[in-house]
Amino acid sequence: MYDEICSVCSCRLCREEVGLTLKYFGTTCSERYCKDCLSEKLQCTVKQLDEIIEYFKSTECPLFI
Ligand SMILES: [Zn+2]
Repeated sequence: MYDEICSVCSCRLCREEVGLTLKYFGTTCSERYCKDCLSEKLQCTVKQLDEIIEYFKSTECPLFI
């Protein structure tokens, strides 16, 4: 599951990036995005995504542990 690449730029994804994609687009979505491409898609900054990741971690969301 964590051996995934970004659907846009084909870079290797870390577990948190996969978790974030699943959070935003659902577990049935076959697209995967790295933080750079996701921030462009969501029109936010990478820093904001980092904060969102920290938040989900703090809620002990299983996608981020
Ligand atoms: Zn990418």
